[in-house]
Amino acid sequence: MILTTLKKLELSTSELQSCDLIPETIYAGINLKNSDVLHALTTTKMSKNFISENKLDRKKNNLHTSTGTNGGFRMVNLAPQSKRSNSTEHAFLVITSAEKAKANIWSDDFDSGNHLLTYHGDNKASQNIFNTPKKGNFYLDEIFSENFAQSTQAFPILYFKLFADNRVEYMGLAYPIPNGLKSIREKNNIPNYEAKFYIDQTTSIKKEWLTHLKEGKSAKNSIVPQSWSNFIHLKPISSNKKIMNKIFSLSGGQNEATVKAKERITQSQFRHTLLQKQHRCLVCGLDCSKLLIASHIKPWANSNDQEKIDSNNGLLLCAIHDKLFDKGLISFDTHNHLCVSNLLTKKDLKILHLDTSRTFAQLKGHQTYLQYHRQYVAKDILSSSNDF
Ligand SMILES: [Zn+2]
Repeated sequence: MILTTLKKLELSTSELQSCDLIPETIYAGINLKNSDVLHALTTTKMSKNFISENKLDRKKNNLHTSTGTNGGFRMVNLAPQSKRSNSTEHAFLVITSAEKAKANIWSDDFDSGNHLLTYHGDNKASQNIFNTPKKGNFYLDEIFSENFAQSTQAFPILYFKLFADNRVEYMGLAYPIPNGLKSIREKNNIPNYEAKFYIDQTTSIKKEWLTHLKEGKSAKNSIVPQSWSNFIHLKPISSNKKIMNKIFSLSGGQNEATVKAKERITQSQFRHTLLQKQHRCLVCGLDCSKLLIASHIKPWANSNDQEKIDSNNGLLLCAIHDKLFDKGLISFDTHNHLCVSNLLTKKDLKILHLDTSRTFAQLKGHQTYLQYHRQYVAKDILSSSNDF
């Protein structure tokens, strides 16, 4: 099952560094190039335990980032303190495809119906297929070797698309298809690899998992994507169809963690949008951002995906006015007058800074949602006009 695509999420660098990676979600930074957005999205923050166990300088070592800004391959290696003999030195690999308009000689192709990615290696000039600066073809050779899944060298692959307007889309976890690597010759007879991957778009990636990978720890099961567990426990399987079934067998549909992650990120984006328009509580003017809540006029639970992120469905309110609005004790009539419930006394109104003579012209665009609020949320509202 494919997750619904959200609108572009414009996040701050620290939000990008901490947010989960949700398949088919487009991320952008505030004044950031897409290489910086990708860099922030694949940054792993080292855990406190790891830093203290290894006596690391927090300032220098708590952020470990992916390398390089160009080319389709970015290998993230284990933290030097975690390296053990006989096991992998790689934490995870990031592969990217650039938007067609900007494409280089080798253009990648993603077939979304079949979750099938045709990816190209990174040789552009050499007669030796492995002679590339990012070692991409070398990694492809390793990834597509027969025993990669069972080897102690196995590492997950995260697939992203980069757009010319600096957006970055997280596509999913990439899995090599058996016998899916072939050597081709294209322009100027230069040899290169063409590689076929399955992309798992059912599982979101938690930053905590990337941290565990970086620290070389076997992570708690709850944060390891099911498709990755399935993949590394594969016995050699003959057909492509069987391997795909095996990888996806236990990870179909949106799991609860994915749904939660999606909700968190949608909510964060919604708040961000409202804060850009307005910096204070609509009712009382309080401007302490820690106390401001992005309140949905039509309640979150009753809103569809579009309504959940529509800024016209949002009011920025302080904690107390959010509660009053949420409980239906205050609302606004068709002329944007503040209306209050008769459950509140005159004394309450004074204490709560509720002035029913006030009009809020800025609510014009919110009337469709306010109509819903008046009809289904508001309780025992007294209105001076007949337009409630
Ligand atoms: Zn307020």
